[in-house]
Amino acid sequence: MPIAEEALRAAKVLHPDEGFMPRPSKRRVITVANQKGGVGKTTSTVNLAAALAMHGVKTLVIDLDPQGNASTAIDVDHRSGTPSVYELLIGEVSIVEAAQPSSQTDNLLCVPATIDLAGAEIELVSMQSRESRLKEALTNEALAQLDVDYVFIDCPPSLGLLTVNALVSAHEVLIPIQCEYYALEGLGQLLSNIELVQKHLNRTLSVSTILLTMYDGRTKLADQVTQEVKNHFGEVVLKTIIPRSVKVSEAPGYGQTVLAFDPGSRGAMSYLDAAREVAERGVEGKQE
Ligand code: ATP
Ligand code: MG
Repeated sequence: MPIAEEALRAAKVLHPDEGFMPRPSKRRVITVANQKGGVGKTTSTVNLAAALAMHGVKTLVIDLDPQGNASTAIDVDHRSGTPSVYELLIGEVSIVEAAQPSSQTDNLLCVPATIDLAGAEIELVSMQSRESRLKEALTNEALAQLDVDYVFIDCPPSLGLLTVNALVSAHEVLIPIQCEYYALEGLGQLLSNIELVQKHLNRTLSVSTILLTMYDGRTKLADQVTQEVKNHFGEVVLKTIIPRSVKVSEAPGYGQTVLAFDPGSRGAMSYLDAAREVAERGVEGKQE
């Protein structure tokens, strides 16, 4: 790989003046969901959020997965006992109390997930307004106090109550789809769950964004899946496709997003491009 090309990419990733991200006309709450495991939900959440944050747009990530992968990647404290999304759901703390600033990236906040969240799926069942507990915590006042333009909610790989809480809290759903065989399997189930939430719990919800991830240009299959997804979902699919890249998978091991870990990599650049597309769609008049 020519060094000059890599340096150019790093400059774009690291220097906001090389293409500032527009702030959205209204605050956007985006749930990143796909009940299929390992499709790039967490990776996309933290890297899109970091790209926006590094380019001047204040962004909050809510880690709604007991695995705590987003908290690890953003490197916020998520030991048991830390004020987290669990305490938020049971009403013990406010989002302002639970949100921690990232130590690596300005403008990036994260509400961590601790192991305590593992029991929440079951505990929620017997709670009042069990589907809207997260929404109740995400008040306009609290989000205004945090002064965030974007909220990304990283979901666990299931369609249980945690994911339902995320869908009820959001205006938009972003679905990452892995460019692999079986990628579309289970998508119907996700979409019908989203429809149910739209009908009964959150009329304003829409699937605004589909992001193709882990694209491997060496396989014909990746192109077939890409084409199929584009035929099916049209405009909603981002033009930027995230390539499969070792750097992307290594970054969380260092408690970093790929943008911080290796800003000159193709993975970092593609997440920056995807974030810019997301941001441009959020500006009034440019939407859809
Ligand atoms: P889960 O359903 O378990 O929450 P997920 O949908 O959040 O998984 P990730 O954790 O983001 O998926 O990604 C799954 C694995 O694939 C991780 O090990 C991650 O580092 C790796 N990965 C994600 N995106 C890429 C990429 N573009 N290139 C290479 N590896 C990737
Ligand atoms: Mg995940």
